[in-house]
Amino acid sequence: MVDRRQFLSAAVAGAVTFARNPMAFAAQASKYDLLIRGGRVIDPSVRLDAVRDVAIAGGRIAAVESSITTAAVETIDARGKLVVPGLIDIHTHTGRTAESPGMVLRDGVTGWIDAGSQGADHIAEIVAVARSSPQQGRVLINIGRAGILPDGDTMDLARADVAAAKDAIAKHKDFVVGVKARLSQEVAGKNDYEVLRRSQEVASSFNLPVMIHMGQTVSPIGKLMGLLKRGDIVTHLFAPPPNAIVDDSGHIDPEVLAARRRGVWFDVGNGQTGHMRWDTIGLIMKAGFWPDTFSTDWNVNSKTTGVIDLPNCMSKLLGYGMSVSEAIACATLNPSRTFPTVFNDRGTLNVGAPADVALLELRSGTFEFLDNYKGTITGKQRFFPAGTVLGGKRIATA
Ligand SMILES: [Zn+2]
Repeated sequence: MVDRRQFLSAAVAGAVTFARNPMAFAAQASKYDLLIRGGRVIDPSVRLDAVRDVAIAGGRIAAVESSITTAAVETIDARGKLVVPGLIDIHTHTGRTAESPGMVLRDGVTGWIDAGSQGADHIAEIVAVARSSPQQGRVLINIGRAGILPDGDTMDLARADVAAAKDAIAKHKDFVVGVKARLSQEVAGKNDYEVLRRSQEVASSFNLPVMIHMGQTVSPIGKLMGLLKRGDIVTHLFAPPPNAIVDDSGHIDPEVLAARRRGVWFDVGNGQTGHMRWDTIGLIMKAGFWPDTFSTDWNVNSKTTGVIDLPNCMSKLLGYGMSVSEAIACATLNPSRTFPTVFNDRGTLNVGAPADVALLELRSGTFEFLDNYKGTITGKQRFFPAGTVLGGKRIATA
C-alpha cells in the first residue's frame, strides 16, 4: 500500500524527471492545447459579445471565460481582434481547384459549399476536392448535367436531366447536399420554371434543399417562389431588376415574404456580375428584408474583384444599419442552420464544439465597397481576416 508520504516522494521524483526535459514537463503541466487570449469574442449562438479567453483541448472548445490562467501549449494574443466561430460560406466555387479550400481557409472560412460548379457529368471532380479539403466542404449538384456553361446551363432543357442527377447524388450521397438551379435568362432562358420543377423532383427524392440563383429571370420572382419549400435557399437576393424581390416603390414581393415565413433562406451570393447593385440593396434593406446569410460566390480570382474575401463581403451592410454581431451571425450561426446535417455543431464557440475559430480585425477608416455594376459605397468599418484555427490547429496565414 502506498501511503501519502511515499506518494508525494514519487511525485517529486517525477517532477525531477520532467525538469531534465522541460518540453515534456510543459506538455504534462498544460491543460490546454491552445489559448486564444484577450480577444473580443462574438458568438451570436449564445449572444456573447465580450472580451474573453478561449481555451481549446483535443480539437474542441474547452472553455470561454473572462480570464483563463491555466497554461497552454500555444497561445494566440488576440487583443484588439475579434474572435468568432469559423466562417461558413454557403455559395462558393471552391470545388473547382484543389488549392481553393486552402485559400479560403486563410480567410477564416472553415466550412464551404460549392454551389453548382458541376452537374452530373463531372460531379466526381468537385466531390474529390471536397473530400480532400482540410475543412468541411460539400457540394450542390447543378441540375444542368454539364455544369456551368457560357451558353447557359439549361438553355437546352434536355440538360436538366432528372435521372442523371439522381444517379450522381446516389453515388456521392455523403458529399452532395443539395441541388443548384441557375435560373437567370442567360442561363435557363424561358425554361426557368421547368428547370426549378425538375430540381425539386431530384432534391425531394433525397430530402435535400434546392438553392436557386435568382435575378433577371424570364418568369416573375413570385411564380418561382411558389416552387420553393422550407429549407430551400434563394441566392443573389439583392439582384437588380428585372424580377428583383423588391419593386420600384420599395415593396417586397408578397410571394417572397411568404417564402421567408415558411422557412426559405435568403442569401447574398456577392459574385461579380448581375447579382448586386447598391440602389436595389438600399430598397431591400430599407424594407427590412435583410439577408439570412452572407456568401461570396467565391472563385480563385476573387481577391482581384469586388468580392476579395468573405470578411469583406460581410462588411458591406454595416452602413445600412446592420450591426457587427448581426453581420457575424450571417456568416456563422445562420449558415450553419442552412445545412444542418453538415454544420450542425459549427457556427458556434460552445464548449464541446469542434474548435473552428476565425480571428478578424475590425478596422475603422474609409473603405470602398463594390457592387457588381462598378458602383461604390464608402464604409467606415471593414472586417479583415486575421487568423484561422481549424479543429484546434492554428493555420499558417502566409
Ligand atoms: Zn455561383
